[in-house]
Amino acid sequence: MTARVLVVDDVEPNVRLLEAKLQHEYYTVITAFSGEQAIVKAATENPDVILLDVMMPGLDGFETCKRLKADPKTSHIPIIMVTALDQKEDRILGLKVGADDFLSKPIDDVLLLARVRSLSRFKTLSDELRTREAVGRRFGVIENLHYLEDGLSARILILEDDNRRGERIKRVLASEQRPLLMSEANELGPEGHASVELMIVSTSGTSFDGLRLAAHIRSQTATRNLPILAIVDNHERDKALRALELGVNDFIDRPLDEEELLARVKTLVRRRRYIEALRESVDQTMEKAVTDQLTGLHNRRYMESQLKALLERMQRGGQPVSVLIADIDHFKRVNDLFGHDAGDDVIRQFSERLASNFRPRDLACRFGGEEFVVIMPDTLPEDAMQIAERLRHSIAAAPFYIGRNREQLEVTCSVGVSVGNQVSDIPETVLKRADQALYSAKQCGRNRVMAQAA
Ligand SMILES: [Mg+2]
Repeated sequence: MTARVLVVDDVEPNVRLLEAKLQHEYYTVITAFSGEQAIVKAATENPDVILLDVMMPGLDGFETCKRLKADPKTSHIPIIMVTALDQKEDRILGLKVGADDFLSKPIDDVLLLARVRSLSRFKTLSDELRTREAVGRRFGVIENLHYLEDGLSARILILEDDNRRGERIKRVLASEQRPLLMSEANELGPEGHASVELMIVSTSGTSFDGLRLAAHIRSQTATRNLPILAIVDNHERDKALRALELGVNDFIDRPLDEEELLARVKTLVRRRRYIEALRESVDQTMEKAVTDQLTGLHNRRYMESQLKALLERMQRGGQPVSVLIADIDHFKRVNDLFGHDAGDDVIRQFSERLASNFRPRDLACRFGGEEFVVIMPDTLPEDAMQIAERLRHSIAAAPFYIGRNREQLEVTCSVGVSVGNQVSDIPETVLKRADQALYSAKQCGRNRVMAQAA
């Protein structure tokens, strides 16, 4: 997999060196020689990862990072800070201003590439979700993303079989998070497991193989998207690389630095929540695209696509598909006499009765205005007539309630039924026959069910 990397350093040979290393691995490299330039290029070029030098005249790396993370246009781009020495203060400060990771000079090539790979994976995923989310936003079906940006109070599961070490990790995390040791995980129950937002896996366990476990977590549907932080002994660089290759999101060296642990955990939790918020909002978009907003029933577009598929199945030798169109009698009068809010009340209650009168496999939709369509797969006309009659009765049998004072109102409906059983049938023809039947029902005095054969 390839990606676009923005390399930022005030010393040109440093930039060229990193550029060469990354290009050798087929990454596309964009360069900047100051914090100011980096901010401009990040916004215009949308890189997948930013390698950011800490020590620069003018805007230094920390300030640049802070500004990139504060701007919604660039806040989602992963940043790796590059420090001159392995200075702990710099690392902590870097993570605190929002950097996703850091490397110290001289740069370990293999580690650099592993980090870039791991972070660009995350970027690809979030880009995909962001694109889909933006579509939903453009059509006004989703509002702004809501998620807790602080990255705190997350349920974290610690997989460490050395009890003393496990307890220590838990104690450190407890100041900001809600950590739990694996031995206590049974208390969680299935719902509690679903609430876990991060797993910390020790790779030096003696009773289990941490890397194997991480790979397993990655491969399971339920935990595929769960972030994992690996704890690796300082000298075991190969293990750290292997962990990243297996899809672990981040690792931290032992001996553990408490502040670094807290900072890395916070970053992972924040990223996880961002991705989950995107995912959820994309799901909502999908749902809204096929749902009628007032009633929660399926909308016309969805109904037509389903009917088309069912008719095609019928033509390949499947069962007939029955369809009904129900129309609320004298609905215009409700709006005229009681106002549109009362009209909406009637539509909503009608939908509820409609939905409760059908079988789970039937598809109830709002066709538009006061018209509803129900698609009944594998249903013969005589059965469809009975079902339609049951609906008609349930509407007429009890009054509707409108307005704040819950005024009672008698409502009836007329229903037209048709069946899709012809080789030439398409949604339009079947719906048209149902509509003709509905017209007859209206002509014959309303509050009745009529059928129309092909
Ligand atoms: Mg510098």
